[in-house]
Amino acid sequence: MELSTIIRPNILALAPYSCARDEFKGEASVYVDANENPYNNGVNRYPEPLQPEVKRLMAPLKGVGEEQIFLGNGSDEAIDLVYRIFCRPGTDNVVAISPSYGMYKVCADVNDIEYRAVPLIAKENSNRQIVNCPIVQYQIDREGIRARVDQNTKVIWICSPNNPTGNAYEVEELEWFLREFPQVIVVVDEAYIDFSSKPSMTTLLPKYKNLIVLQTMSKAWGQAAIRLGIAMANTEIIEYFNRVKYPYNVNLLTQQQAVKVLSEPEAMRAQVDEILRERARMEQELVKLPNVLAVYPSDANFLLVKVKDADASYRELQQKGIIVRNRNRVELCQGCLRITIGTPAENDTILREL
Ligand SMILES: *Cc1c(COP(=O)(O)O)cnc(C)c1O
Repeated sequence: MELSTIIRPNILALAPYSCARDEFKGEASVYVDANENPYNNGVNRYPEPLQPEVKRLMAPLKGVGEEQIFLGNGSDEAIDLVYRIFCRPGTDNVVAISPSYGMYKVCADVNDIEYRAVPLIAKENSNRQIVNCPIVQYQIDREGIRARVDQNTKVIWICSPNNPTGNAYEVEELEWFLREFPQVIVVVDEAYIDFSSKPSMTTLLPKYKNLIVLQTMSKAWGQAAIRLGIAMANTEIIEYFNRVKYPYNVNLLTQQQAVKVLSEPEAMRAQVDEILRERARMEQELVKLPNVLAVYPSDANFLLVKVKDADASYRELQQKGIIVRNRNRVELCQGCLRITIGTPAENDTILREL
């Protein structure tokens, strides 16, 4: 793929803002180049524009080079940048699996990009019948997607493990899109990858120049409040992310907190292990409840649970102070609640009240 043919012409031609910290690199004794307040209070200086310390710790954990990482104000910034870099407003379109994460569509609408949702194929697997309701497997409709891709399709959005269905796709299945549509950017959103039995797509980055992998510090790492999203791709694409982003898009407090938690990955892994144990226990216990018709297989930190009356269960749980996500009105998720795995005590409460 020739990147210059898919990037918006105005972005290709963009002369990025050059900030004071870009122009001078090195150590000095007096910094009077950025109109900052000189009195040190810990936050009086502008932060690193490209967050080198965070990337130095993150790169080996992800198995990619530091220059293959973009860090943003949540994944939401990375999602928005994908539109702003590749998609011409009013002309281009993107194709996405459905149901999936809502921000792909919101950012498409904000950027005036046509959003073509292709429903997953919900295939009943009667081998895995629970109570009187067969488990549904959510498969990607390859031919449906092929039929919607045209000259102006710039991006295909795939979320794996998918939110809200919870399932993950095999690397080979996703690789098909990378090979089949070499002129289209394929974004694989791996927000839940640390909970998954399937491997990350990052190992394919050297092979496919049209691949962008999204991850986040918000879920497994337990850092939703600091807003730190991750995009990984080949260096050329990352250079465009860096050109288009706001100069100081990740603030100092976020960078400091990220450095702290990335220095202790064992703590994250211990929590993930605990959450996975609880996910297995919840799966076992939920299907025993008379109210529950099915619990779908999950590669994430939540379970999609089909109940007899989703709206009624949602209301009753809410009255008891338990907030789950009602997915009853989401395509292919009729009758379902999405329940995040909590602490063992929280999970016990949910089982009791359901
Ligand atoms: C939670 C989630 C994210 C994380 O978004 P942040 O902006 O990084 O907090 C991204 N993608 C999906 C599919 C999610 O469910």
